[in-house]
Amino acid sequence: MTATFNILNVEPDQYSAEARSILHTLGILVEMNMARGELLARIHEFDVLIVRLRHRVDCELMTAAPRLKFIVSATTGLDHIDLGYAAQKGITVLSLRGEVEFLRSIPATAELTWGLLLALLRHIPSAHGSVLGGNWLRDDYKGHDLKAKRLGVVGLGRIGEKIAAYGNVFGMSVGFYDPFRTYWLPNVHKYQTLEDLLQNSDILSVHVPLNPETEKMIGANEFSCLHRGAYLINTSRGGVLDEDALLAALQNGQLAGAALDVLSNEQQFAQGAPNLLVEYARSHTNLIITPHIGGATYESMHITELFMVHKLAACLKKGTITS
Ligand code: NAD
Repeated sequence: MTATFNILNVEPDQYSAEARSILHTLGILVEMNMARGELLARIHEFDVLIVRLRHRVDCELMTAAPRLKFIVSATTGLDHIDLGYAAQKGITVLSLRGEVEFLRSIPATAELTWGLLLALLRHIPSAHGSVLGGNWLRDDYKGHDLKAKRLGVVGLGRIGEKIAAYGNVFGMSVGFYDPFRTYWLPNVHKYQTLEDLLQNSDILSVHVPLNPETEKMIGANEFSCLHRGAYLINTSRGGVLDEDALLAALQNGQLAGAALDVLSNEQQFAQGAPNLLVEYARSHTNLIITPHIGGATYESMHITELFMVHKLAACLKKGTITS
């Protein structure tokens, strides 16, 4: 007997039309933005849950989901999902993690990282704001060349590799720290320790996954290894930085500036919780923060959503699920 799958897409805004049309052929598709309370109340109806990053798929949510068999997330970072508990419950998490060849074709987060880097070193957001205020103060927005600067990449994976390549194109001297990397790129120097990389970087760009080993891996000690006046870019996960130490490094001038696409409490911040870095950025121009838009381009989201839906279809067809 063919099973009917109840599929919930709980973050359906601008979801790929092509991916949606395939989902309609796989089961009964419900597409609805839900607040946490509503999701908790209705999750028991569904076999498949499709999320982006707005919801925490935690023990509480999965406990309320007796028929849930698949969680689908078109992301590589999976810290919004309790993977251990999902495994315990027999729920398969389908994601982009490990899809190395496919991911190499997706440029969105690397491009945003480079945009943040240029915006930071050339004061683009504050210069724009100044012009909107009726000013034309060329001398106030003198920035720095990238050429001949030292770019340090922490984590030379899919995104880190692209950043290293961009750095080379811009005439930078590029180094990286990644103990798990077994091969490296021409014109990219491998440092054996994070400390060595930090001591040899003018601009540090962080591209590691968030896990117990990388949590707060860039903190007070690491900032003190950078030379005074270095810059930091983080588009990986907020939890990779010790944000209190980052704030202190900005306040005391150890860092000349930082640009972040991620915050450790971004989900709570979206619900109105305060964040000290955002507070700082309200009155200082050397901290740029964007709302986790690294992967958010029409092209990248369409292609990754389609990829994930094909992956789900293949699993459902294989009969991984019985209901
Ligand atoms: P990836 O898995 O291809 O690369 C991660 C690299 O980090 C790997 O080479 C790994 O060896 C290295 N690494 C792991 N632990 C390390 C450690 N302790 N020290 C140094 N290196 C270490 O991942 P990716 O696709 O390049 O993405 C990197 C991260 O960026 C993701 O995990 C995700 O959290 C984040 N991301 C953010 C956005 C966004 O929208 N801002 C989008 C995509 C990915």
